Amino acid sequence: MYGKEIEKILISQEEIKERLKEVAAQISKDYAGKDVLFVCVLRGAFIFFADLVREVKCNPEVDFIAVSSYGAGTSSSGEVKMIKDLSAPIANKHVLIVEDIVDTGITLKYLKELLAARQPASLKICTLLDKPGRRIADLHPEYSLFSIPNEFVIGYGLDYDEKYRTLKDVCILSPSEYTIN
Ligand code: IMP
Repeated sequence: MYGKEIEKILISQEEIKERLKEVAAQISKDYAGKDVLFVCVLRGAFIFFADLVREVKCNPEVDFIAVSSYGAGTSSSGEVKMIKDLSAPIANKHVLIVEDIVDTGITLKYLKELLAARQPASLKICTLLDKPGRRIADLHPEYSLFSIPNEFVIGYGLDYDEKYRTLKDVCILSPSEYTIN
């Protein structure tokens, strides 16, 4: 059903839905009775975030932050830039950072240190995908839906050069479609 630019579906929309329910149930349990702020890391997490906040039972507040560590290629530049900050202080709040993928871990380590300095009541990470084989920074997400091999993936919010974010499944891009840097 996809064209030749997609090598294969790695995680189908049905598998995402099923696993999201499990993790949302765990998060609802862990945060029961607490006020939580879910922070969406733009732009890659936007679709996962929208599904997650509607599945949890803890009625979270939401906010958005944007950072960038990638140019137009398929590997991190190692430099993280803040593009859009949160719209309100987070001191004394229970904060859950929602990210699309943890690769080297450099982006989330930066973000975690930045937000920890603002003294939230607690600070945890929920990621859709984890590529533990590529980790450089010492970072362990508290919630992770899927652990994946070292492949460049697209879809369900994730892009290559700003394309493919709206695919419903998490897919592997054909090597002929990208330049490695
Ligand atoms: P890290 O700093 O290397 O952990 O990179 C994290 C960011 O890189 C993620 O938020 C994504 O935006 C991007 N990224 C890492 N791996 C992939 C991938 O396989 N597909 C699309 N984006 C990726």
